[in-house]
Amino acid sequence: MATHLPKEKKPAEGRKHQNMQNDTKAPQGQWGRAWEVDWFSLASILFLLMFAPLIVYYFIMSCAQYQCSLTDPLLDLLTGNKHLSDIWNSTPPLTYRAAVIYALWVTFQVVLYLFIPDFCHKFLPGYVGGVQEGAVTPAGVVNKYEINGLQAWIITHVLWFANASCFHFFSPTIIFDNWIPLLWCANILGYAVSTFAMIKGYFFPTNAKDCKFTGNFFYDYMMGIEFNPRIGKWFDFKLFFNGRPGIVAWTLINLSFAAKQQELYGQVTNSMILVNVLQGIYVLDFFWNEAWYLKTIDICHDHFGWYLGWGDCVWLPYLYTLQGLYLVYHPVQLCTAHAVGILMFGLLGYYIFRTTNHQKDLFRRTSGNCRIWGKKPEYIECSYTSVDGTKYYSKLMTSGFWGWARHFNYTGDLMGSLAYCLACGFEHLLPYFYIVYMTILLTHRCLRDEHRCSSKYGKDWKRYTAAVPYRLLPGIF
Ligand code: NDP
Repeated sequence: MATHLPKEKKPAEGRKHQNMQNDTKAPQGQWGRAWEVDWFSLASILFLLMFAPLIVYYFIMSCAQYQCSLTDPLLDLLTGNKHLSDIWNSTPPLTYRAAVIYALWVTFQVVLYLFIPDFCHKFLPGYVGGVQEGAVTPAGVVNKYEINGLQAWIITHVLWFANASCFHFFSPTIIFDNWIPLLWCANILGYAVSTFAMIKGYFFPTNAKDCKFTGNFFYDYMMGIEFNPRIGKWFDFKLFFNGRPGIVAWTLINLSFAAKQQELYGQVTNSMILVNVLQGIYVLDFFWNEAWYLKTIDICHDHFGWYLGWGDCVWLPYLYTLQGLYLVYHPVQLCTAHAVGILMFGLLGYYIFRTTNHQKDLFRRTSGNCRIWGKKPEYIECSYTSVDGTKYYSKLMTSGFWGWARHFNYTGDLMGSLAYCLACGFEHLLPYFYIVYMTILLTHRCLRDEHRCSSKYGKDWKRYTAAVPYRLLPGIF
C-alpha cells in the first residue's frame, strides 16, 4: 500500500520542503542504486552471479564431506585424489521430503506475514508493530507496511518448542538432517523470485517511477529494477524475503544444530550455547526493531533483485549459520574464562550496534528534538531533491556515537560477528568466514552509502564528513 506525498506535506524524515518542479527539472536518480554501470561494478556482479552459489556449495560440502576443512577438498582435487564428479556424486540430491518441508515452511511464513495482523504491539510496551510507514522513495512515494515479524518469530518458535517437547511430529534435527537437499530448494526459490522480480519490473511494476533500468541485463538482474515490488496491497518482497523466511529460520537452524550436537555427543557445548544466544539476541533485535528496519539501506535504497532475493533465500540462512554447523562437526567446549570473555565482547558489540542505531532512529523520529547522552544532539542541516523536483530538508547528526565515526553501528556489528567466530576456537578457518564476509560487506556498504549520500546531499555531505572524519574506527579508518 503506497501513499504519494502531497507536494506541500512534510516527508517522514524531512523538516520542510518546497515544490521546485516548475523551476528546475531535477536530474533523475540522485539517490538509490546506479543508473550507469562501470566496468568494475559489472565485473564484480558477474563474479558474484557465477561464484556466490559455488561458494555456498563449497562451504556446506566441506562440512559434510571434509569435516569443515576448507583446504582438503582443494588438495584432493589438485593432487588428483578425487575428481569434481566424486565430490558431486557424494552430495545429497534434492529430495521430495526436503521439497515438502521447504514448501510448508515458506507457505507458513507467508500466512503469518499476510494473514495475521500484529497483536504484539498491543501488549508489549515499547514495541512498534502494526501498520507503519516506510521512508519516502526517490519518486516521492511512502509505502505502508504491516510490521508483524516479531509475532511471526514468536509463533514459529513456540510451535518449534511445543513440537520438540510435547508433540514430536518431527525431530528437532530435521533442518540439519536435510541441510543439503534444503539448499537446492532455497536456490530454486531464490532464482525463481529474482527472475520473477525482473520480469515484473519490465511488465507490471508496482510503481513505474521507482524502477531503474541500466540497460545492462546482468546488473539489472543482480541489483534489481523495482524499488518496492509488491503483490496486492501488502505482500512486499523486500520486507518478506529479508526478514522471513531467512531470518526467522536463522534461530531455528541454530537450534537444530544444537539438537544434533545433543543427539551425537549427548551434550550441547558452551560454544554452541554462546552462538545460539548471541545470534538469538541479534535476530530478536531485528524483529523487535522491524519498524526501524524500514529506514535502513536495504529497504530505503536497494532495489529488489538477485542480490536481495537469492541472498535472503540462500546466502543468509546458509552462510550466517556456519558457526553452528561447524560446532556439530567440531564440538568445542571452551574454558569458562574464554566463554565469558567472548560473551562480554559479543554483548559490548551488540550494545554499540543497538545504541548507535537507536540514536539515529531517535534523532530522525524527533527531528533532533531529543537528548543523546543527556545533551541536545548536534547536527548539520542538509537538503536533497527527489525525482519529481521536490526539495526536502534533513539533518545529519554529529554527536553521540555518530560523532565518533560515520558508521559506528557497523563497528558494533563487526564486534558481535567476531564474537560468534571466536566461540568456535582456532582449529579451522571456516567459522571465521563470517567476520571476513561481514568486514567486506560493511566496508563496501559504508563506501556505497557514502557515495549515495554524497550525491544525495552534495556540499552538505562534505560539511558532514569534515565534522566527522572517520568511517568505522575513530583515528584509524
Ligand atoms: P545505517 O542505519 O547506518 O543507515 C545509513 C543511512 O543513515 C544513510 O544512508 C543516511 O540516510 C542516514 N545517515 C547517515 N549518517 C547519518 C547521521 N549522521 N545522522 C542521521 N542519519 C544519518 O545503515 P544500514 O541501513 O546499512 O545499517 C543498519 C544496521 O543494519 C547497521 O547496524 C548494520 O550493521 C546492520 N546490517 C547488518 C547486515 C547483516 O547482514 N547482518 C547487513 C546490513 C546492515 P538518509 O539518506 O536518510 O540521510
